[in-house]
Amino acid sequence: MRTASLGFTTPMRGNSRTAASLPLDRNAPLPSPVDPLFLAGFRTMLTFNHRTALVTGAGRGIGKAIAEVLARHGVTVICVSKSADSCGAVAAAITAAGGRAKALAVDVADGAAIAAAADSLLKEFPAIDILVNNAGITRDGLLFRMSDADWNDVISTNLTSCFHWTKLLARPMTRARWGRIVNITSVSGVMGNAGQANYSAAKAGMIGLTKTLAREFSARSVTVNAVAPGFIKTDMTNEFVNNPEASARILEAVPLKRFGESADVANLAAYLCSEEAGYITGQVFNVDGGMAM
Ligand code: NAP
Repeated sequence: MRTASLGFTTPMRGNSRTAASLPLDRNAPLPSPVDPLFLAGFRTMLTFNHRTALVTGAGRGIGKAIAEVLARHGVTVICVSKSADSCGAVAAAITAAGGRAKALAVDVADGAAIAAAADSLLKEFPAIDILVNNAGITRDGLLFRMSDADWNDVISTNLTSCFHWTKLLARPMTRARWGRIVNITSVSGVMGNAGQANYSAAKAGMIGLTKTLAREFSARSVTVNAVAPGFIKTDMTNEFVNNPEASARILEAVPLKRFGESADVANLAAYLCSEEAGYITGQVFNVDGGMAM
């Protein structure tokens, strides 16, 4: 028997206790050894109803973590990355672990490639309910030294790709009157960052896109939100994380005094894709150890 209590699903056995009936006195001694019912009362369960998600940049880092956490919740995940090897390895690992995944190599900087991929996916899958626009690159440099190519590559990979994927995949979501779109932006798009004019502009553009589409799709119960990571340990930040001087300088600006993990971002992204997040749209959530506040 299960009962819902304060938003948590609490398994009940025999002489049942719920999370709501636990003592509220914070100085009361904790049960010892820890009562499994105590722990179960605080475990959140996300609902996905066997949805299908497309995650871009799922070959490594944050996108891989998002694909994995969605798959663990029973979501069928279409893993997109630039190289077939990286999304192939992630999809194969999910499948080997008992999940459902498909790998697809698509250069998201190429609008025609996205159109061809979306066309064949919409024939293959009855619905793609969830879109996570996560693929991204950096080409850092101060403005006076930034080439047109570095500007254009970053804008097309990080921002224009979101326009293309969303335009193609959101229409069936609006028809079905259910959908979740999560855009992985950056604290650089929220605060700006010297040396990242291209990247900050692209990420700030994603925030504007998120808020506008949240308004356009709201009548159809399709939510659109953005997650803004700070410094997360991935291939993208390797050169800073592995450099003690650069790390120390960065961590001065991070109140929690550590780099984030991909799972820190993935858990929030998964929540925003779930049934439970249906009343949240047009928001930007920072996962940055407190950098931007
Ligand atoms: P990452 O480890 O470098 O992985 C990037 C992923 O994006 C890879 O799977 C890569 O594909 C894919 N990708 C790049 N260009 C692509 C293209 N043209 N077409 C298709 N796929 C492409 O990056 P990450 O750190 O996980 O970052 C993920 C997202 O979070 C990015 O949007 C990034 O801007 C954002 N973010 C990251 C941080 C951070 O601290 N790491 C902070 C703020 C925001 P391949 O595997 O095939 O190369």
